[in-house]
Amino acid sequence: MSDTFEKLNILPEAVSRILRWYPVVRRILPWRQNPTPYHTWIAEIMLQQTRIEAVIPYYTRFLKELPDIQSLAVIPDDRLLKLWEGLGYYSRARNLKKAAVLLMEQNGGSFPASAAELRKLPGIGEYTAGAIASIAFGLPEPAVDGNVLRVITRLLACGEDISDPKTKRFVKDLLRLHYPEGYEAGLLTEGIMELGETVCLPNGAPRCDVCPLNLLCAAHREGTELSFPVKAVRKPRRKEEKTVLLLRCGNRFAIRRRDSSGLLAGLWEFPTLDGFLTREQVLRYAASIKLPVCLASLCGEAKHVFTHVEWHMSGYLLDCEAEHPDYIWLTPDEIAADYSLPTAFRPWQKKLN
Ligand code: SF4
Repeated sequence: MSDTFEKLNILPEAVSRILRWYPVVRRILPWRQNPTPYHTWIAEIMLQQTRIEAVIPYYTRFLKELPDIQSLAVIPDDRLLKLWEGLGYYSRARNLKKAAVLLMEQNGGSFPASAAELRKLPGIGEYTAGAIASIAFGLPEPAVDGNVLRVITRLLACGEDISDPKTKRFVKDLLRLHYPEGYEAGLLTEGIMELGETVCLPNGAPRCDVCPLNLLCAAHREGTELSFPVKAVRKPRRKEEKTVLLLRCGNRFAIRRRDSSGLLAGLWEFPTLDGFLTREQVLRYAASIKLPVCLASLCGEAKHVFTHVEWHMSGYLLDCEAEHPDYIWLTPDEIAADYSLPTAFRPWQKKLN
């Protein structure tokens, strides 16, 4: 890092260039219109692992139904998950409600104005706490995510591994030394994010010709933009095989809740078994739970990619002579209207009609 330290004197100038550049180029986004702590929080949680364009309609619908902490704290869980349907990572929605309940119970329904206190709320990590603190409260608190790490490591030609928490801490501490307060704190947080999303791009060549930092940037000067950020190679995702059962009785299909721990904990699913089962194994399973099946046929294959796991699924349609009491039996319209199934089950839900 010693080499990097020599380049640190460019940071104050880089900050002031971003603060001049961002107000001119900023995109109009719904959560930027009135950046209250609540608006910033909802937007930042939705934006985790989801593209801005995809988040906009969800954000608008969510805010229309749940305009404040009070309404979020009392929404029924199933309705909350329905509003979240399609965004994935449902624990994010659950944590939003948990945090809203806590804020109502312990803080009079408002947010604490400190990054350290914000971090104590469920689902709020270092990045989100920094974003709310700087954008909504004007505190000199950086929010460091992959975009920020990319911009700063290129700016400084810093070859440290960005998947090492020490590198993130180094970048955060460094930025904090130069962070402004008040309105400009939010401008800087949004400005670095905007730079990472629209100019200093993650895939392919960065647009250095239009970058406000191009005269300062060490990687650009050395022509090594694509060598940064440095990231240790990740372990490949674990592959899991699953068999999904579409159990039909008349015009109703069976769903059930998943276990309360593990992947997709507590969410609704079509009964899903581990491994690729043969038709005979599926029929044996049905007999073992005393489910009377008159017909079973293979109905397709699908794949779903989670962060660390891939599901490779095959599906069977089973016509049943009676409804089994362990499941909830519903028409396809009832499932679509009132139950939120994780995206992994979307290909199977499409087969119901
Ligand atoms: S000059 Fe290029 S590499 Fe450097 S920060 Fe700007 S876009 Fe990124």
